Amino acid sequence: MSNLEQQVTTSPPGPFLSVRDLSVEFSTEDGIVHAVDGLSFDLRKGTTLGIVGESGSGKSVTNLAILGLHDPDHTKIGGEIWLEDRELTGADRATMERLRGNRISMIFQDPLTALSPFHTIGRQIGEVYRKHRGASKKEARERAIEMLSRVGIPQPATRVDHYPHEFSGGMRQRAMIAMALVCDPDLVIADEPTTALDVTVQAQILDLLKELQQQTGTAVILITHDLGVVANTADDILVMYAGRAVERGTVREVLTEPRHPYTWGLLSSMPRLTSSVDAPLKPVRGTPPSLLSPPPGCPFHPRCDYPELAGPELCRTQRPEISPATGHGDACYLSLRQKTEIRTAQIEDHA
Ligand code: SF4
Repeated sequence: MSNLEQQVTTSPPGPFLSVRDLSVEFSTEDGIVHAVDGLSFDLRKGTTLGIVGESGSGKSVTNLAILGLHDPDHTKIGGEIWLEDRELTGADRATMERLRGNRISMIFQDPLTALSPFHTIGRQIGEVYRKHRGASKKEARERAIEMLSRVGIPQPATRVDHYPHEFSGGMRQRAMIAMALVCDPDLVIADEPTTALDVTVQAQILDLLKELQQQTGTAVILITHDLGVVANTADDILVMYAGRAVERGTVREVLTEPRHPYTWGLLSSMPRLTSSVDAPLKPVRGTPPSLLSPPPGCPFHPRCDYPELAGPELCRTQRPEISPATGHGDACYLSLRQKTEIRTAQIEDHA
């Protein structure tokens, strides 16, 4: 039996990607960092899940766990990650290497660090295709040209022989997308794919991702600190704070009826079309907690304005779980009525 066959365990039919009670801990000189704690979510084929949170919220760590890219000597991973019928947290290195670039691929924030400056764009795209598809050099070059054309690079037959430094920032990001999609992956993880780009190019890249996804049916995880980025791109949103999910739902649910005080904070820190240019943005007050010693109770309580309403003792001592179990849910002890009243007052204040 091959290693791959040994890794395959049968699970009930369900979502394309299913993360269950995931925990990721790193050993450091200062102690154990609890980077992800009890995270569960599902992703359906052909849809985009936006994972949103400040840096250190655990969103990138979660995706490195899906990709199997953590250092096994210093990382402890608990829970389960199911990619259809395959469980990934127990998969060996060879299995994960086969999956990466082939069934799962990644688009990084900064293509300059992800692309080698020493090889042409075409060679780098073609190498991924050759490695996973056993294609000849000629086939790989033709595929690279086809992919550059699909991502909107002009004169792809010429550009294929250019080096990354000869591309603009936006074109490099398009080339990264071409490389990520060259093997028609089932899942693409895009980690802050547009942060380094100006606003116009950012919108073009997000539109491109969406268009390609509609053509291929690929599932996408879009990691970002910016709720505005997911508004037009994602189907569902998962808001993370201190390694835990604090709110999840469809884009419409989370953006039009946000329920968690942290999501309210993220929304009020976003510029709005209706605001005057000099209207001050309101960042979430305070700073994220240290994951070496996360606060007891609700991890957001040191920054939250509402423990007195929800029950200060409860907020400071008992960790809220996300509820309800399916659909639009959040991890906060405020009642739905209190949340609606607070949100209505916030909107009236901003009107
Ligand atoms: Fe704030 Fe309490 Fe809700 Fe946490 S559980 S977000 S501290 S009100």
